[in-house]
Amino acid sequence: MDYLLKTPELTLKGKKRQLFEKILINNLKKKFKDNLNFLKNLGGVFWLKTETKIEEGLKKIFGISVIFKVEVFDNLDEVLINFPKDIKNFNLQVKRGYKDYPLNSQQIFEKIVNYLKKNYNLQFNKKSKNRFYLEYRDKKFFWAKEKIKGAGGLPVSSSGKAVSLLSAGFDSPVASFLAMKRGLKVYFVHFHSYPQTSKDSLEKVEKLVKVLNEYNLGSQLYLFNILKIQKFYYQRIPQEFLVIFYRRTMFRLAEKLKEELKADCLVTGESLGQVASQTIQNLEVISQTVSSFVLRPLIGFDKQEIINFARKIGTEEVSRLRGDDCCSLFIPKKVKTKAKIEEVLKIENEWQREIANLEKEIYDERFFLKI
Ligand code: ATP
Ligand code: MG
Repeated sequence: MDYLLKTPELTLKGKKRQLFEKILINNLKKKFKDNLNFLKNLGGVFWLKTETKIEEGLKKIFGISVIFKVEVFDNLDEVLINFPKDIKNFNLQVKRGYKDYPLNSQQIFEKIVNYLKKNYNLQFNKKSKNRFYLEYRDKKFFWAKEKIKGAGGLPVSSSGKAVSLLSAGFDSPVASFLAMKRGLKVYFVHFHSYPQTSKDSLEKVEKLVKVLNEYNLGSQLYLFNILKIQKFYYQRIPQEFLVIFYRRTMFRLAEKLKEELKADCLVTGESLGQVASQTIQNLEVISQTVSSFVLRPLIGFDKQEIINFARKIGTEEVSRLRGDDCCSLFIPKKVKTKAKIEEVLKIENEWQREIANLEKEIYDERFFLKI
């Protein structure tokens, strides 16, 4: 199979463009391995040859906006000979990508249209459902019947690395996806309370990472068992602050991992006002736990919008599976909706040493999966 891939987002990159293209090429090789027979960069447009069909896989590679499955011809006569004649009309888009062909795009277009009309009475019609695309590059004509929408965005790894706090819910997988879309390679961290929470919920997270790995290309999942610190908080911290304390612990552990992995930021699936722990005041108190930059790609999304998004990227059906969340354990009846940093720090400082020791233990006992 032959494919032609377009990357308009990369052409905005000026001098850095070559670097972005190199990363995209690496990602394509990683994704398709031995299936990829040939790959050539034709000025920001990529020509690929593969053993088998790879459209579905290509749609998951960030940095590619348009995918053409093409037939490749050496000259314009071949294009004319192979043009389908069992139709009444057609629509055609022509692009001369390299200027070394003597006819320009419009002249190529006219030559084809006139030839087909004269010899076969085929009519060019802008509204025709028989759409064709022809592009000239590298002394070849690439001819396509279909224009497939790619994932867009920037190649994974071209913007840096992120540590994403991944629960088993709907939100954080979508947030991770959006971070990848803008070129971040994502490392996943999940907090659980095994054996209080079931093995099912861990498997659910693994499944989510598998789905996201299609885009992320080589994922690592870090599992932290926070049961002991949850129990500790449950006995000592006023009920309404519990969720904030759980989150602050998650953020500290995630930041430590971020430093170890030399990653650039944290990512969460928080959305403003979605639940009590996500009021603007509580988000600030949670943010202030760490000095890391925290990306919240879903901040302006409604729940239903997130679920629709999850369906499109393939995480919805996994998130819908049963599985208990560590934060649904020891859940308080009352939740503070407007926490103040001073009051949180006052309580936290009383238990500073114990919290630090427990977090160190949890960090050292972390479990790692390569997916
Ligand atoms: P989600 O759908 O992602 O579970 P949520 O609507 O349940 O989000 P919260 O439970 O308030 O919202 O969690 C907010 C964010 O905190 C999550 O999107 C995720 O980034 C992080 N988070 C929550 N629980 C965990 C967990 N057990 N492990 C890792 N990250 C978590
Ligand atoms: Mg959740």
